[in-house]
Order: sequence, then structure tokens, then C-alpha cells
Amino acid sequence: MAIDFTIPDAAKQVREQVRQWVQDECIPAEKELAESKDYDGVLTRLRKKAREQGLWCPFIPEEYGGMGLGPLANALVQMELGESHLGALSMNTQGPDDATMMTLLEHGTDFQKDKFLKPLLDGQKRICYSMTEKAAGADATGMQTRAEKDGKGNYVLNGEKWFSSAATAADIALVMAKTNPEAPRHQQFSTFLVELPNPGYNIIRNIPTMAVHGPLYDIMGGGHAEVEIKDLVVPEENLLGGEGQGFAMGQHRLAYGRLRHGMHNVAMAQRALDLATAHITERSTFGKPLEERQGVQFMLADCAQDLYIARLMLMHIAYKAENGMDLRQENGIAKVYLANMVHRVVDTAIQLHGALGYSLDTPLAAWYTHIRSQRLVDGPDEVHRWRTGKNVINAFKRDGTTAAAAGGELL
Ligand SMILES: Cc1cc2nc3c(=O)[nH]c(=O)nc-3n(C[C@H](O)[C@H](O)[C@H](O)COP(=O)(O)OP(=O)(O)OC[C@H]3O[C@@H](n4cnc5c(N)ncnc54)[C@H](O)[C@@H]3O)c2cc1C
Repeated sequence: MAIDFTIPDAAKQVREQVRQWVQDECIPAEKELAESKDYDGVLTRLRKKAREQGLWCPFIPEEYGGMGLGPLANALVQMELGESHLGALSMNTQGPDDATMMTLLEHGTDFQKDKFLKPLLDGQKRICYSMTEKAAGADATGMQTRAEKDGKGNYVLNGEKWFSSAATAADIALVMAKTNPEAPRHQQFSTFLVELPNPGYNIIRNIPTMAVHGPLYDIMGGGHAEVEIKDLVVPEENLLGGEGQGFAMGQHRLAYGRLRHGMHNVAMAQRALDLATAHITERSTFGKPLEERQGVQFMLADCAQDLYIARLMLMHIAYKAENGMDLRQENGIAKVYLANMVHRVVDTAIQLHGALGYSLDTPLAAWYTHIRSQRLVDGPDEVHRWRTGKNVINAFKRDGTTAAAAGGELL
């Protein structure tokens, strides 16, 4: 089935509304926050206003208080929100909370939805996701944290976690641990809802990283925690989705969860290209405006090409998701492309700014340090490329051509 490029009017309208929201409210609020450092005050005011305008939890169904947007409209909205670091937060669709809300919605019991999901949807609480360990990341089946029943209606967890984003800002942690060591590899692990703070979930530190940290970095959920899990008691009613379902549960998050950063990257790359273009139209070297240099025009052309491909990929995947089609191959390709695309565009924008680009007087340098993580999180490039490459071979063996694994169905 070929892609339908028609964007429904309702989706266009909501994109326009969010575009205005980001430009008129979020970007000015960034400045206010930088000056006042009053994170709670600024965010509370912003969120109240967003909610009054119906801008809240874009992909959450309306009966749960969200906007009920499908994958296409949501992708359009996320691409706008990425323009401001307050964009997603203002509409309560920030990571890692957002994808976890999806998981709770899909797999939570009535009790879990009432106790854990409701306050998340209301923006009263935040949640983090603790899967990766020092022992295992890309191949998460190497996780060592154990969960054992204590015979009194609880599981008791012991182990460690590493790089749990936003754990210091979270009220709840979704923790994965091994429950069934004898089961097949992907059925050994289960997911638990853990209330924080908790003496068994001991945040040792926020791991220092290469990302440029502003004064509000940790409180805004930017920190990545190292956690000791020691005799962590979790009531059985907090087991999410059943024993052994830890990996299977994550699959429904594919279209959005894995590409959320990529959607925001489009907005960031667009802003970087705008900054670069504004700069080169104002600056001259060797007696000639930079904008007249063909070499500079080529650099801008490469960025425009990258952005165009990125947008098309996201639209195609959203289209497939809307139509319930298998999107795993495109998702893996896009995950890698979008992470590398934003690197190239921001790097080019820095280059065109000269030393100014390297300074912290523009947002470019800080962005550059943040986006490096995207080639690692949600699966490193190599793991996706490995799977993508395997699918190419499989398609060839099956069809006598690799087209099906290379966007061939578009034509
Ligand atoms: C900023 C940031 C935020 C994060 N947030 C979270 C979070 O909230 N929750 C959470 O649970 N985790 C989180 N993570 C962890 C992240 O998911 C892992 O870092 C990632 O899965 C890679 O695991 P690893 O770091 O252990 O690398 P490893 O698994 O040790 O892999 C190291 C490298 O080996 C290569 N490699 C691995 N496997 C293959 C292969 N099959 N073929 C070829 N090459 C391969 C890749 O280059 C890879 O980068 C975060 C990480 C970062 C950097």
C-alpha cells in the first residue's frame, strides 16, 4: 500500500495550535526560567495554561484526559514540541514518563491505573524506567537484578541499575528484574511499579555525563541515576503485565517511544539550520558575504536534505502506525537516521558559526553534547543496523529482491 501524503485538516489544526503554543509560550518561558530559576512556578503556570487550551498528553485517549491523537497527529505535534526544552514538559508528554504512561494504559490493572497512572496523567507525579544495568544494556537479557517472592504477598528485588533517567525527579520507578531464570531468555524478566523514595531503591548518584548541565538540569529530569537495589519489597499487586512479560510489554511503544527523540530532533535540527542561515546571511569573510559562497550553500543543502528525509521517514512510519501495519524495519532505520541526522545538522550549524558556535552563547554547543546520547539510547546504532541488515538478507532470500526491507512498498 502506498503512503498517503494527505494530512487531515484536524491534524493540521492541532499542529498549528501547538506551533503557536511553543512559539508564544514555551520559548518565552525558557527565558523566564533561566532568569527566575523558579522551575515549579514556571512549569505550573505553563501547564495550567496548556491544559486550559486542551493541550495535554497528546496521544492519551480523551477518556483519560488526553487529546486522543493518533500516531500521525502526534508525530506532527512532537516535531513542534522539540523546538523548546519546555515544550514536551508543558503538555506532560516528556520522556521517559510518556512512553511509560502508554505501557500502564495498555497493561495496567484497574488498581494500577488508579493508583499510578492517574497522577501521572494529571501531571502530579513523574515516573522513571530502570532497565539498564552496569551488567547489561544493549543486550538487556543480561540483567542480573533478581525478584523473588517472599511468601507474604511481595516480591523482593536485589541488584543494581544504571542510567535510570529522571530517577531523582521521579515519584515512581518501573523496574525490570529477573523472575524466572529457567524460562526462555526473553520470558525471564518482569516489570514492577516501585513507589519512590524507597529505602530499597537507593539512588547512589546522578552519573556525571558529557552533557552541558544547566542549574535546573537534574530537577527537570535530566539526570541519569546509578541505583542500588537492596531488599526492595514490592507488593505482588505492583507486578505490571504478568510474570515474564517484561520484554513483550515494550513492543507496543515502538512507533512512538523509540522515535520520540527523533521527532524532537527534527525541531532541533530545524532550529539549528535557521540559526546557521541567519548567521551566514549577516556575516562576511574575505570581502564577501558567507551566503554567497557555494561551499556554504552546499552545507546548507546537505542539512535541508537531511531534514527532508527525516520528515518523510517520520510521516511514513506514522502512516504505517495509523494503518496498523508492520513498521519494525522502518522504525529501526529511522531511529538510527534521526539520531545521526541531528548530529550532522547541529555540527554544521556550529561550524558555520565559527567560535561562536563552540561557545555557550548560542544553544548549539549544549545541544551537541546532549544529542550524543541518542546514538546509544533506545538501542545503539549498531544493534539497529544489525537487525536492519538481517532483514535485508531475509527479504532477499524470500523475495529475490531486498526492496521490501528498503522502503520498496512506497512505490
Ligand atoms: C543519556 C542516556 C539515558 C538513558 N536512559 C535510560 C533509562 O532511562 N533507562 C534505562 O533502563 N536505560 C537508559 N539508558 C541506557 C541505554 O539504554 C544503554 O546505554 C543502551 O542500551 C546501551 O547499553 P550499554 O550502555 O550497556 O552498552 P553495551 O551494551 O555495553 O554496548 C556497547 C557498544 O557495543 C556495541 N554493540 C553492542 N551490541 C552490539 C551488536 N550486537 N553488534 C554490534 N555492536 C554492538 C555498540 O556500539 C554499543 O554502543 C540511557 C543511556 C543514556 C546514555
